[in-house]
Amino acid sequence: MLFSCVASALILLQPASAFCWGPVGHEAVGFLAEDMVSPQTQTALSQILGNVTLDQIANCADALRDASTDCAGLFDPPLQQDDLTAPWHFVNIPLSAEVSQTPVTAAIDQYKDCDEAATGPTATAMQDSVEDCVRGQVQFAVGVLRAPAPELPAGAAPQQAQAQAASVLRRRRMALMYLVHLEADAHQPLHVTNDNDEGGNKEQVIFQGRRQSLHHLWDGAIGAQNAMNAKALAELLKKDLSRLPQSEIDGWTQGGLDAVINAGIGEGFNIAKNTIYPNYFAAKAASPGARAVPLGDDYQSQMQPIAFKRLQQAAVRLAFLLDQSLGQNPDFAAPQEKASAMAGAWRKHGRLNLKKPDLSGATWDGRAPILPKN
Ligand SMILES: [Zn+2]
Repeated sequence: MLFSCVASALILLQPASAFCWGPVGHEAVGFLAEDMVSPQTQTALSQILGNVTLDQIANCADALRDASTDCAGLFDPPLQQDDLTAPWHFVNIPLSAEVSQTPVTAAIDQYKDCDEAATGPTATAMQDSVEDCVRGQVQFAVGVLRAPAPELPAGAAPQQAQAQAASVLRRRRMALMYLVHLEADAHQPLHVTNDNDEGGNKEQVIFQGRRQSLHHLWDGAIGAQNAMNAKALAELLKKDLSRLPQSEIDGWTQGGLDAVINAGIGEGFNIAKNTIYPNYFAAKAASPGARAVPLGDDYQSQMQPIAFKRLQQAAVRLAFLLDQSLGQNPDFAAPQEKASAMAGAWRKHGRLNLKKPDLSGATWDGRAPILPKN
């Protein structure tokens, strides 16, 4: 059985996040994606991040909700703590929705704004700019990374050029920080599904002797978080990925940017609706009155392969999104390719038709940047 080695010892290495794939899952996606991107994307990543790697920034978007962070030393001054970015990590599609019968884009469209979760000045600023939920934030980050730096006015002073370069670099770092994290969150089934239970956060279960929420159990990839470090998980996921037919993997990135982003969310919703919740409801019915629903030992062998596939799909799609943004950005093209890349940079790709984001603003700093609507 795939991944059966994971079912072995339960060694508590790190606490799991209560909100997202745990740190191990996010870092593993970062490791895997970095391994898969094109040479031009690798060049761009090293120009933007220096020696910092994607796994090192994979959890910054979570950390930022609770405290200011310099995110592996990338931000000086550090990004300011901002819990109003919380809705950017999920989308609450109700369990009763029928995503299999409605095109997934339309289903997500209904719940994309996270209005109930967004209050306060940040929310007000965001409402007219970009969707608050995970899909809009992923799209926005891709848009920032696709955008060439604005041209300097003729005769610009060296200080002006320097300030603009610093501003563009900071925004690209922020976009990477969010994209690496949020595309993984979009693949956690309980980040895109809600049964009036905060995406399973209110459902208590007992798994391998530990009481936790159903959401938390999935964040930890059904025990993987406690059993191995991120590098080991990434290697396991990579090895298993190499056994899949290439045609299946290619199928995960078909149809253009919007289709790929929507597919990750739609698949996760259907897994929650057709597998995770029915299984949980059955276990609950078998233990009437229990305050925490006991899950059998076979839960791991049943569900962990599903969680691992979600992480693999997140990594493959993240690499695709990076290749379609940084890998297409003329600022990072080899000199001889630069002219032709510039000509095609804003050509419509798939159905994502983002207008050129304004990269001239001084900061993003946790606030949603303003992106004109299509
Ligand atoms: Zn998150």
